[in-house]
Amino acid sequence: MERTYIMLKPDAIKRSLVGTIIKRIEDKGCNIKAMKMFTLNEEILKEHYSHLIEKPFFPELVNFMTSGPVIGMIIEGTDVVVGMRNLMGPTKWEEASPGTIRGDFANNTTENLIHGSDSVSNAEEEINRFSKFF
Ligand code: UDP
Ligand code: MG
Repeated sequence: MERTYIMLKPDAIKRSLVGTIIKRIEDKGCNIKAMKMFTLNEEILKEHYSHLIEKPFFPELVNFMTSGPVIGMIIEGTDVVVGMRNLMGPTKWEEASPGTIRGDFANNTTENLIHGSDSVSNAEEEINRFSKFF
């Protein structure tokens, strides 16, 4: 069994898409092992998005990610890291196919509803990073 870290972003909560997105995860047969709503700060976002700190959009990303609570989840299943990435769709909303979460509901690259770990090792790192909130 593999684990991944999923986070519903502030826009998912503001747009009342939490139930819809969780239903897609559950319909796929993925198992929610832990779930919690909490609010992020800039410090943890600099760790979580360390690969993006130098990007021009980083301040906008921090602004967005601290604009309201998020919902963190640990999801467990076979090959769940890649499986959840496929269910989410790619980062850029215009490249996300209909049928994916981002493809069906996102129309902005920053406000793209959902985070999912991109590798097994990053999943374990992120679960560690966010476990203090659970
Ligand atoms: N992001 C953005 N503009 C970009 C690329 C990324 O605002 O050009 C934001 C977006 O919210 C994305 C997050 O930064 O989900 C993390 O970027 P990453 O490349 O890790 O994409 P993800 O793994 O979320 O698909
Ligand atoms: Mg990423």
